[in-house]
Amino acid sequence: MATIGGQAVILRLAVPVPLRRLFDYLPPSGTDPAQLVPGQRIWVPFGGRKLVAVLVDIVGESPLAELKPALELIDQRPLFDERSRAFLQWAADYYQAPVGELYAAALPVALRKGKPADHWAEQWLQLTTEGKGLPESALARAPKQQALLQLLLARGRHSRTHLKELGHPATATRALVERGLAEWQSGPTVPPPIPDAEPAAPPELNEEQQQVLQSVAAEGFSASLLEGTTGSGKTEVYLRLMQRALDRGRQALLLVPEIGLTPQTLRRIAARFPGHSIAALHSGLADGERARAWLAAASGQADIVIGTRSAILTPLPRPGVVLVDEEHDGSFKQQDGVRYSARDLSVVLARNAGVPVLLGSATPSLESLHNALSGRYQHLRLRRRAGDAKPPQIHVVPTLGQQLEEGFAPQVLRHIGDTLARGEQALVFINRRGFAPALTCDDCGWLADCPHCSSKLTLHRRQRQLRCHHCDYRRPLVDACPQCHSRSLSALGGGTERSEELLAGRFADFPVIRVDRDTTASKQALDRLLAPARDGEPCLLLGTQMLAKGHHLPRVTLVVIQDADGGLFSADFRAPERTGQLLEQVAGRAGRGDLAGRVLVQSRFPEHPLLQLLLEKGYSAFARQLLRERTAAQLPPLRAMALVRAECEEPRWAEAFLEEARGHLEAMAPSSPEIQYLGPVPALLERKSGRYRFYLQVTAEQRGRLQPLLARLCQWAEGNRNRRLRWAVDMDAQELS
Ligand code: ADP
Ligand code: ZN
Ligand code: ZN
Repeated sequence: MATIGGQAVILRLAVPVPLRRLFDYLPPSGTDPAQLVPGQRIWVPFGGRKLVAVLVDIVGESPLAELKPALELIDQRPLFDERSRAFLQWAADYYQAPVGELYAAALPVALRKGKPADHWAEQWLQLTTEGKGLPESALARAPKQQALLQLLLARGRHSRTHLKELGHPATATRALVERGLAEWQSGPTVPPPIPDAEPAAPPELNEEQQQVLQSVAAEGFSASLLEGTTGSGKTEVYLRLMQRALDRGRQALLLVPEIGLTPQTLRRIAARFPGHSIAALHSGLADGERARAWLAAASGQADIVIGTRSAILTPLPRPGVVLVDEEHDGSFKQQDGVRYSARDLSVVLARNAGVPVLLGSATPSLESLHNALSGRYQHLRLRRRAGDAKPPQIHVVPTLGQQLEEGFAPQVLRHIGDTLARGEQALVFINRRGFAPALTCDDCGWLADCPHCSSKLTLHRRQRQLRCHHCDYRRPLVDACPQCHSRSLSALGGGTERSEELLAGRFADFPVIRVDRDTTASKQALDRLLAPARDGEPCLLLGTQMLAKGHHLPRVTLVVIQDADGGLFSADFRAPERTGQLLEQVAGRAGRGDLAGRVLVQSRFPEHPLLQLLLEKGYSAFARQLLRERTAAQLPPLRAMALVRAECEEPRWAEAFLEEARGHLEAMAPSSPEIQYLGPVPALLERKSGRYRFYLQVTAEQRGRLQPLLARLCQWAEGNRNRRLRWAVDMDAQELS
C-alpha cells in the first residue's frame, strides 16, 4: 500500500455515477504518491466499467475495509483548483446532485472522456531579454522580421497557431530565434481567435452609465441587478467592468443565453480587447475547440471567458468579475441531469471569490427583482436608450372579429408594406415554428397526435413531415385521414413556415428572411442569414424568439408581434412573466438606430389587464404587479420551491413513488405554514417520449429548511430499485411541464 511518512494514502474521488457521495480508492499501483494532487483526473474501475473520476481529497483512512486501486493518473497538473472544488461541492449539496455528475458537467466532452490535457499544449514565441531591448525601428532591412518583432514588443508572446493565423511566415520566426531575439516555450493552450474583429475604441459613457459603474466597487463581493431597457447601454457597462478586472490582472466571466452568443457579440468584445485572449464556451464548438477554450480558461491563460450555462462550472484561477447578460433567460437553468441555475450560481461564485457580480436585463426575472427590491442586491437602473435612439411606440391591434389573412390583420400588412417601401426593415415575431401546430380531418375530426407524448404533431410542409416538438418523433405527411380516408385535411393555426409563405408572396420585391431552429442549424448559419439585414437593405425578418435577442439591427423600424395571448392563459404560474419578458424583448428590437420604431401587437384580448399594464406602463410596472400577485399566492420567489419529479411508462408507479416520498417528507416535517406540500400531480405535459410524468411540490418560507429534508429524501430514493422509474429533485424549479 502507498504511504506518505508511514500514513496510508487513500484517494477520495468524484465518480460520474448517480450516487450522492465520494468514493475511496487506493492510488494506482506504481504511482509515486507525491505526484497526486487534488483536482487531477484519474481512471478508476467502477462496476465492471472504466470511468474518468476527479481526485477531490487525499485522506489517511477510509471507513471501508477493502479498497480497490485506481487504474491510472491522467493529469500531471490539477484541472480543478481548491476554490472550484469547494464551489462544485456546494452546488452538489444545494441542488441535491451527485457530485461526480457535477464534475462531469463541468468538464468539456473531450476531457470527460479522459483525453490528456497536454494534447492541446501550445508552442509560444516570446522575446528574449535581448529582443525586448530592441527599439520598434530595429530590423528595418528585414520587414517581415520587423513586423514580427513589433508585434511581440507591443502585445507580448504569441502562440504558433496564432502567428500562423496572423500571417507571419515561419521563415521570419526562425530568423528571430536564430538571432537570439526570440525563443519558443511550451505552455498551455490558447483559445481560437475571434475572426474579423477590428479594434474599436469605447464610446464616452453617458451619465447614467457612469453612475452605474461608480456603484459597483472593483474589489470585494457585491451583487447588483442592472435593470436597463434594451439599447440602454448595458453591454457597454459589462465591457467597462471587464476592463477593470483585466486592468487588475484578473479574469472576466460573462454568461450569455444559449441563443445570445452570436458571432456578432463575440466580435464586439474581441474588438474592444485586442490584446487579450478570449475563451468562448458554447454548444456550437467542436469537441477539440471546446476543450482548448476550457483549458485556456481553467489554466488562467484566457483573460476573458464568455459562455453559456455550463461556463459557470469552469474553474477560473483568478476571477475578477462575473457578469450575466439577459439574466432572466430560461436557458441559464439546466432542465435535466444536474438541474442547476447558472444565474444563481454566478452569485455564489462571486461571493466565494470576493468579486462583484452584475446581473443585467431589460426584463429582470421576478427572483432577481425580488432580491433587488428587498435590498439583497443593489438595484441599478438605466432608463434611457444610449446614443440617440428613442423608445418605440407600441399599439395593440385587436384581432377578434377582423378578417385575418393567415393570422395577420389587414392594417398590419399595410404597415409592413409601407415600412419596406420606405427602405426600412420590419421584424415579425411568431412564437411557433413549422407550418401549423396541428393537422385535422374536416370530416371525422381526427387529429394527428404524437404516439409518445400528450401533444399534437406539428406540420412541416416543406419537408412534408409531421413532427413532435417534444420528443422529435417524425412521420411522413399523410394525404388522407388514416381514420376515415377523407382527403380534406386542414392545417390548424399558424407557424413561421406558414407566415413566410404568405409574406414572401405578398412582398415579393424584398428579401424575406425566416429565422427559427429549422433554418439555422448553427450560429454561423444565423449570422449569414442575417447579413443582408445587418447591411441595412430593406427586408422582412420573421421568426421565433431566436430573433428576440443578441442582434443589433439598427434599420428595423417596425416590429409585429403576431399573437400576444398564448402565455396569458397558461396553467404555469410563470407563464405571464415569460410572456411579458418576450414581448418587451421583441419590442426592444424596434428603432435601435436613429430611426424611430413602432411596435404592433396583435391580440384577441386587448383589454386584458396584464397586457394593458405591460403596454402602457412597461415591463417594470408589470413585473412589480406580478410580484404582488406571487406574494398574495405564496408562490416563488416569496417562498422557495423544489419539485420531486418522477416519470415512468407505468403511471401508477411514478405516482406511488411520489406518494411514498411525500410520506417520508411529512414524517420529517409535517405540513405547516412553513413547509407545504402539493401533489403528486401530473406535469403539464403529462406524457413525454412514452413516459408519464408527475411531480410533488414542496415549498418553504426559508430555503435552508428544504436542504436537509431533500438530502434525506435522496438517500431514501437512491435505494429505489425500479429501473424503469426515473426520479429527480429539481431545486428552484422553473418549469412545471
Ligand atoms: P444593451 O446591451 O442595453 O441593449 P448596448 O450596450 O448594446 O445596449 O448599447 C446599444 C447601442 O448604443 C450600441 O450600438 C452601443 O454601441 C451604443 N452605446 C452604448 N453606450 C453608448 C454611449 N455611452 N454613447 C454612445 N453610444 C452608446
Ligand atoms: Zn377523417
Ligand atoms: Zn412526442
